[in-house]
Amino acid sequence: MTLPLRPDLIGIEPYGAPQLDVPVPLNTNENPYPPPEQVVADIAASVARAAAGVNRYPDRDFVGLRTELAGYLAVESGADELRAENIWAANGSNEVMLHLLQAYGGPGRTVLSFAPTYSMYPEYARDTFTTYVAGTRTPDFRLGAGHALEQIAKVRPAVVLIASPNNPTGTAMDIETISAIAAGTTDTGPDGAASLVVIDEAYAEFRREGTASALSIRPGHPHLVVARTMSKAFALAGARVGYLAGAADLVDALRVVRLPYHLSAITQAVARTALTHAPVLQEGVAALRAARDECVAWLRAQGFTVADSDANFVLFGTFTDRHRIWQGLVDRGVLIRETGPAGYLRVSIGTEADMAAFRGALKEVTGR
Ligand code: PMP
Repeated sequence: MTLPLRPDLIGIEPYGAPQLDVPVPLNTNENPYPPPEQVVADIAASVARAAAGVNRYPDRDFVGLRTELAGYLAVESGADELRAENIWAANGSNEVMLHLLQAYGGPGRTVLSFAPTYSMYPEYARDTFTTYVAGTRTPDFRLGAGHALEQIAKVRPAVVLIASPNNPTGTAMDIETISAIAAGTTDTGPDGAASLVVIDEAYAEFRREGTASALSIRPGHPHLVVARTMSKAFALAGARVGYLAGAADLVDALRVVRLPYHLSAITQAVARTALTHAPVLQEGVAALRAARDECVAWLRAQGFTVADSDANFVLFGTFTDRHRIWQGLVDRGVLIRETGPAGYLRVSIGTEADMAAFRGALKEVTGR
């Protein structure tokens, strides 16, 4: 007997970086600093309170959490026009973006992104029966407005997905480019509609001085949405909370495709408590940004090609046999990611000790 698995899923491996038990895990762009004791205690207390009412379904519209996320973005990016009705959240920004494609993609429609970029984008497309088109960037992984708009005009995508800072390259787009893309996409979608422009800012809090968030121009563009996550800067990857800011009617449409009560009472409690401790939880961000800049400079001094990074990871190369380098590092207890363009490797920024271990292992393996 065979089971009627969809033909397009036969033989497909599930997405995921290797989860190996190593002393120095630098492969999934996590924040290496666990929450301080006081925050752990507060989270535990809020979970206990939620547990006492867990016989009931949670607040389906999670208005409290949405209001507080709007408050966070007002402080973080000056987006003080945001209200609960502009915010959506789900189990990681992966689920947020899946909701976007469920509502705005679909059969007969296309989502356009620009490679190399986040490897989950084609999977959201596959899972929503949306055609995925991988557009291109320049060889230094940048994306100019003219180049992007040319590709958009050709493809006429319902959705344009742009990670900025981009994964796995770390490169961010300047705000003038995002602005020009938004201005040029008001009628490039299906049947003369706009293309929905999604700026995936999972790594926004790590951006360098002078790099603006797309939130700063969002109010003028109802078809522009900014996705964020608590997995990185908030050091909350295990809690699974992502969110977005967009026009109220766009958010409303997402309520149609979400499963009822998709955000558990426990998740809501954890996220809301974490938000009250945002400054403490993000204390490590400044250190990580500094360590990122040091890592870029060090790798360049060793003679590697290194992409500019506004994120908490660095893409470097090039190696004729990157797998050998990756394996050599694993053998020394340092797990990085074999991903991105041919010949490149990606390292997440860890603690000072993690980075020292990475530098030592890389020197040994490459003989530099
Ligand atoms: N966007 C980008 C560019 C990412 O790199 C990631 C995580 N690796 C995500 C979104 C999703 O993160 P999460 O689901 O944990 O919010």
